[in-house]
Amino acid sequence: DTVAIRRALLSVSDKTGLVEFGRFLAGRGVEILSTGGTAKALREAGVAVVEVSDHTGFPEILDGRVKTLVPQIHGGILGRRDLPAHQAQMAEHRIAPIDLVAVDLYPFEATVARGGSFEDCIENIDIGGPAMIRSAAKNHAHVAVLTGTAQYDAVRAEVEASGGTTLALRRRLAAEAYARTAAYDAAIAGWFARQNEVEFPPRLAFAGTLRQTLRYGENPHQRAAFYVDGSGRPGIATAAQVQGKELSYNNLNDTDAAFECVAEFEEPAIVIVKHANPCGVATAASLAAAWDAALRCDPVSAFGGIVAANRPLDAAAAERIAAIFTEVIIAPDADEAAKAILARKKNLRLLLTGGVPDPAAPGTTFRSVAGGFLAQSRDAGRVALDGLKVVTKRAPSEAELRDLLFAFRVCKHVKSNAIVYAKGGATVGVGAGQMSRVDSARIAAWKGEEAARAAGLPEGLTKGSVVASDAFFPFADGLLAAAAAGATAVIQPGGSIRDNEVIAAADEAGLAMVLTGMRHFRH
Ligand code: 5GP
Repeated sequence: DTVAIRRALLSVSDKTGLVEFGRFLAGRGVEILSTGGTAKALREAGVAVVEVSDHTGFPEILDGRVKTLVPQIHGGILGRRDLPAHQAQMAEHRIAPIDLVAVDLYPFEATVARGGSFEDCIENIDIGGPAMIRSAAKNHAHVAVLTGTAQYDAVRAEVEASGGTTLALRRRLAAEAYARTAAYDAAIAGWFARQNEVEFPPRLAFAGTLRQTLRYGENPHQRAAFYVDGSGRPGIATAAQVQGKELSYNNLNDTDAAFECVAEFEEPAIVIVKHANPCGVATAASLAAAWDAALRCDPVSAFGGIVAANRPLDAAAAERIAAIFTEVIIAPDADEAAKAILARKKNLRLLLTGGVPDPAAPGTTFRSVAGGFLAQSRDAGRVALDGLKVVTKRAPSEAELRDLLFAFRVCKHVKSNAIVYAKGGATVGVGAGQMSRVDSARIAAWKGEEAARAAGLPEGLTKGSVVASDAFFPFADGLLAAAAAGATAVIQPGGSIRDNEVIAAADEAGLAMVLTGMRHFRH
């Protein structure tokens, strides 16, 4: 099942390694066919090559839109060598067999990523390339198909060892080939959907380009990889790692959670995340001050956490963050002084993204279920001041209102049931992921007490705070737990059949309460 290579077709956009591979083939007496640019590169390097247009007798036309879409090429790739009828037809139509096809597609993904115009992106949709790849992969029994410059070496090594390509190699290459064309079309479809502002429902099964194979998944016995969707949306996918150890699956997941949360705020903000939940969030006049306030909320959990900032790191912030053990820092940028300070921490991973995600951006989120997956538009909902409805006798003060809105924005990024206490632009108690809302309220208050005790403060941090709930209070008990913790004002979606009961309890406790009409479950 080893196929000797007599004729190869090379048509590549990325010319990396092309000349070496071409020279290797030519040296073994292989006839090389190539499209315009590829042929030129080979010829200039002194590698013998036949232009596809000379081979077929038909020129490249329509600005290269039609180069290889001709029977001489596709017949040469698809014809079965084991069927006399195919052989006879090929001979009759003077179609020469092609034993190896190497195609590197037009750089569609890169054109999108660099912000190419609509026309530019359209022109970078490769037509003939995917057609040849799919033809060659279908006929892998006789043809080897290469779809990336990284495959040259493996093929070369096998040809040197076996005198041709083995069936095992051709099958492996065929699988990779269809994965490549599937990802390519998914990238095009995703881009088109974004142009049309069609956000939902997504027609895509899986649109991703492999960014990184990870050492393992959530646990060491799970395998994992990181894929990017090519949208170029600032965030974890656009991050450049400046320093530190390799990122793990959990690092990526937590870092994404932290960066999405910090992007909610206009003022300088810091988010500290542990196990995908914020354990400290604060806004302040500077990042350094925001860090101090965020850390105060839960310094125990913050140890070994993930830190996100919504503006470039400066020296003051870097110095403060570097003072405790942190796994990852993500920020849009960092100045030279901040980089120098963080460089002292060799293992600390520093990610710079060049921008902050737009919290209101459309998009789709996925979750796998047994036998399928769930897709939904991302939670781009954001409550603003004018969307709040005061339902208690007492209206919140200006300061309370600011904190209420802040706490509700944090709530959106806390796993449900989520209860968030805040004071002075900082969280002072976060209750996450409980099966009962009243437990979340109690746990958050208890954590505020623990943090106060650690800091030597006489009262729990939640005294005089405001509280946010990601969903309505089904009963008054959760609200009363928050009042007992010292909260003076409440923000929650409302909509429970017992809203009146909850509002009456708030009035009785002297609380001010606003309803958002919008829920932020995150499970
Ligand atoms: P070259 O640089 O050799 O002129 O062009 C190489 C590129 O052309 C490769 O990315 C290949 O996938 C693409 N290509 C080959 N044949 C066709 C075709 O018939 N139509 C289009 N649109 N692209 C093609």
